[in-house]
Amino acid sequence: MNTLQKDIRSIRGIGEKRAQALGKLGVFSLFDLISYFPKRYEDRSQIKPIALVQDGESVCICAVCGDEPRLSRIRRGLDIVRFRAFDSSAQVSISYFNQSYVRNQIHRGESYRFYGKMEVRGSQRSLTNPVFEPEESPLSATGAIVPVYRVCAGLPQRSLRQSIQAGLDQCLDEIPELLPEPIRREHALIGVREAYRAIHFPEDYSVLEQARRRFVFEELFLLSCALGMRRQERSAGIPLPVPDFEEFYARLPFRPTQAQRRAVSEAAADLASGNQMTRLLQGDVGSGKTLAAAALIWQCARAGRLSLLMAPTQILAQQHCQTLSGFLEPMGLRIALLTGAVRAAERKSLQEKLDAGELDLIIGTHALLSEGLRFPRLALTVTDEQHRFGVEQRAKLTGQPEQEDGSSVLPDSRNRPLVRPHVYVMSATPIPRTLALIIYGELDVSLLDELPPGRRAVETFCVDSRYRARLLAFIRKLCGEGRQVFVVCPKVEEDTEETWEASPAPSEQIPRRGKLESAVEEAERLKKELPGLRVSCIHGRMKSAEKDAVMRAVLEGAVDVLVSTTVIEVGVDVPNAALMLIENAERFGLSQLHQLRGRVGRGVHQSYCVLVTDSETKEAKARMQVMCESNDGFRIAEEDLRLRGPGDFFGSRQHGLPETHVADLGTDTETLMRSKEAAERLLREDPELQLPEHRALRERVEMMAEKMNGTLN
Ligand code: ADP
Ligand code: MG
Repeated sequence: MNTLQKDIRSIRGIGEKRAQALGKLGVFSLFDLISYFPKRYEDRSQIKPIALVQDGESVCICAVCGDEPRLSRIRRGLDIVRFRAFDSSAQVSISYFNQSYVRNQIHRGESYRFYGKMEVRGSQRSLTNPVFEPEESPLSATGAIVPVYRVCAGLPQRSLRQSIQAGLDQCLDEIPELLPEPIRREHALIGVREAYRAIHFPEDYSVLEQARRRFVFEELFLLSCALGMRRQERSAGIPLPVPDFEEFYARLPFRPTQAQRRAVSEAAADLASGNQMTRLLQGDVGSGKTLAAAALIWQCARAGRLSLLMAPTQILAQQHCQTLSGFLEPMGLRIALLTGAVRAAERKSLQEKLDAGELDLIIGTHALLSEGLRFPRLALTVTDEQHRFGVEQRAKLTGQPEQEDGSSVLPDSRNRPLVRPHVYVMSATPIPRTLALIIYGELDVSLLDELPPGRRAVETFCVDSRYRARLLAFIRKLCGEGRQVFVVCPKVEEDTEETWEASPAPSEQIPRRGKLESAVEEAERLKKELPGLRVSCIHGRMKSAEKDAVMRAVLEGAVDVLVSTTVIEVGVDVPNAALMLIENAERFGLSQLHQLRGRVGRGVHQSYCVLVTDSETKEAKARMQVMCESNDGFRIAEEDLRLRGPGDFFGSRQHGLPETHVADLGTDTETLMRSKEAAERLLREDPELQLPEHRALRERVEMMAEKMNGTLN
């Protein structure tokens, strides 16, 4: 058996108990053990003269024990060992609480290295419970850069450190080098053995940095290889000739932006390639994604093929239908909208039309997939995910197999078909590049990084709740001019959980400072404060039919002020809305705030976004500042990632990113790009990683791919 796979119990000092504790940390084999990297390091490498140490400084000193350590009992369960120690500069009083054994390990007249936090009171210096080693022993717990691991009960830091040292001694020579020599040379990465040694027991900071750099690269390289190999598994797709899009553009009411043209030609080439397209169209709110989809739908229709467009809500499906009909019907496309549950008769007639090839586009919600319809000649599915695109929805993107007779059945993704419809996903989530590469690792990405001309940036302000009277006046003024206003409050559910401090009896609950507004309460309040204005409310607990009814009223202009929780995030276009007012803005993620702001400024009027917050924290202030300064979704997303960390980026609901071990998805972008490029190049030379020198790499990539299947699909 390979030494790396040996059980950790083969190490001296690891018995049943330790092994169990290590098991809790996911460490079973020697390889697991040496791959258990420190969470931080303590610099105990500099030995300081006692006299120079400042109060509160964590420091390593080298001192001679000046008197025999004395044990005294302070009270039951509390004893103390005390002695004095000195070097040539000063003396220090050292105490150990409840470590009576120290008395037998430290002897008068002998020299030790101590590491701990120094307390200085006038001329008195003291150290409490410092780590110590005899001066002549090799540097390990003191006098070096010392690794600090995440430990658990039954696993002392020191013993873990020793086990890892022993583990390295045993198997270091057998760790295979995964990174091909040319790649290592090109990126100046140290060898695997040196890296393992240095990540645990670095001699200095520069070698530690080199080790970390190597592991970050290795991890991202493995990830890129795994994703790259998955891309290769792509199925065949229906080849659709690229039409002359100028003909299409010429009939639009406006000129497409350069970004729209680029996105269309990228996808159009995919559609023509004979391989299945799986492409993501990323574009900030209002960047005109619908148009790009329309162009592709037109391309399909020209080839006599059906397209399907799915939106997250009924009302959005309706809006898409309106927009797309406006573009496409004059060009002769036949479009059907499916809303609500389809009645049997309707389904039958629809199916007949589908079978006869009398439709070019069907629009609906995801429920389209569960209507039991067959979609012959289906060539393209477009999914408008808005911001809702979560990892858990990826499974739906694989498309559906096309059967030999040219018909297709939804949903079915289990048996790998030969030909699949093309997949186009539109997302308004401005995902930072690092995350996009990983989440959408096997999708190609087009970017709409240009807004249509003539848009006026939404003016953004941040105020506290003392501005309420002025805000009410502002609302009255805008509504007086015929505009509409959105007011967003944090979720109703959160309100009950977080507004009230936990206290012994419910009757004694006290509202917290900066109490959260629930949409319902806020609507009631605004109705009183804004007599004569039509105030409506929409929130997540309403049935979708109710929500649709309210949204319709808003679209028809029958509502002046719409109070809501974040349900309006999902992309309904209300061009007449001119103010987005967000209560307790500190409660929202930056990307979410940006999405909300994107709901206004869609028409010709100057629009405003007001963030209301009473939060005084530095973080909240930093976030509001970003919002006021920037209208760029990508920049905001990068900031969001930086401020919150990737785990939080999508909220726990959508968690499912591959867990990285050493790489930081927020900051290691540069390395990610380089490792991705290296992986792609390698896969071009050796697509299956079959070459003997890539064997170890292939095994690890397969392990990685397996883990990813667990988290991503
Ligand atoms: P989103 O990317 O948020 O889905 P839409 O596709 O809804 O954006 O487009 C937003 C608005 O901009 C729509 O009213 C659309 O008609 C308009 N639009 C799209 N492209 C252009 C363009 N090139 N010039 C002017 N207006 C455009
Ligand atoms: Mg849209």
